[in-house]
Amino acid sequence: QTRSSADLIRAEEPVLAHNYHPLPVVVSRAEGTWVEDVEGRRYLDMLAGYSALNFGHRHPALIEAAHAQLDRLTLTSRAFHNDRLAGFAERLAALTGQDMVLPMNTGAEAVESGIKVARKWAYDVKGVPADRATIVVAADNFHGRTTTIVSFSTDETARQGFGPFTPGFRVVPYNDLPALEAAIDETTAAVLLEPIQGEAGVLIPDQGYLAGVRELTTRKGCLFIADEIQSGLGRTGRTLAVDHESVVPDVLLLGKALGGGIVPVSAVVGSREVLGVLRPGEHGSTFGGNPLAAAVGTAVVELLETGEFQRWATELGVVLRGGLSALLGKGVVGFRARGLWAGVDVDPAVGTGREISQRLMREGVLVKDTHGSTIRLAPPLTITPEELTGALGALEKVLG
Ligand code: PLP
Repeated sequence: QTRSSADLIRAEEPVLAHNYHPLPVVVSRAEGTWVEDVEGRRYLDMLAGYSALNFGHRHPALIEAAHAQLDRLTLTSRAFHNDRLAGFAERLAALTGQDMVLPMNTGAEAVESGIKVARKWAYDVKGVPADRATIVVAADNFHGRTTTIVSFSTDETARQGFGPFTPGFRVVPYNDLPALEAAIDETTAAVLLEPIQGEAGVLIPDQGYLAGVRELTTRKGCLFIADEIQSGLGRTGRTLAVDHESVVPDVLLLGKALGGGIVPVSAVVGSREVLGVLRPGEHGSTFGGNPLAAAVGTAVVELLETGEFQRWATELGVVLRGGLSALLGKGVVGFRARGLWAGVDVDPAVGTGREISQRLMREGVLVKDTHGSTIRLAPPLTITPEELTGALGALEKVLG
């Protein structure tokens, strides 16, 4: 006998750690842009697993790649080679214009790995004295939840109670080149930034900022690490968010959509000068680079190689921006959007982000608030114009 949504939500309370506050919807199946709850109610997914589902739920090409691989080989560990990893690394490096790939699993692991690689590069190549390397990061960043990563978070909820913290980080305001320049010195291994700050509310820096970061890091002799875990892989209408400024960072951090919403797949992708610093035994992961992940990751890269999703995100991004512009002054006080990604600031008098999300849920549209009165829209890149217009109509209704 199947259990009701209400029963399943109640059942979670005593047995699951309370580190999330989900909307009260219990999803049991999904396809494309739609999910269905236990009672058979259908919802348009306007969050897409925080951009892990850029290609929609259960994209046929990705499901086929996963099934085929499940029938042959799933895990070897890196103690041995597997026949899927070389192809994945070749295609991912070519897609992103980089040389080498370090495969990991989750986003936070890619960030941790990027930090380790940058520090090693600082000691081995740049000549920073032992244990003195620093990394410059931006205020209001979100890079994950590990102890080291929350060490340089500026969100007290993410940090409170989790010290002592990892030293070696300097925080500067985002979108502020003079502050960044002032923070870089001879100990600086890298500047680590999100090209668009997702969790902060889809904050898009001024045109020229990313090119400025590239110029500055090159001139000062430190690395530019772009965390494209949420912004990358088609979301903004380009393969990478840095592509909008034709910037090539030394290191890219990828995750989320790289696993097609099927398996956790992340990667540090970078130049040979940087990733070449790692020697056998210095870093690793039991699951990183496993054949199932590599097969799905390769299929993801194949989808992006067509350019179709990037084009669609650009085209529908126009519809998204148009729809949001029309809501300005009608419950929306501001928004930031690029491609199929938007942070929408709702008039606090109309409701908190949470309340708006709950009202949208009742209208059959799933979104999630970020901070206070901001909601984030990030549908699968396979969404149709009609579906997007429908979601915007639902937003207009709940704001009215
Ligand atoms: N970096 C960015 C920019 C993210 O948005 C996220 C997750 O939201 C992460 C890193 C962490 O990824 P994960 O949750 O897979 O560890």
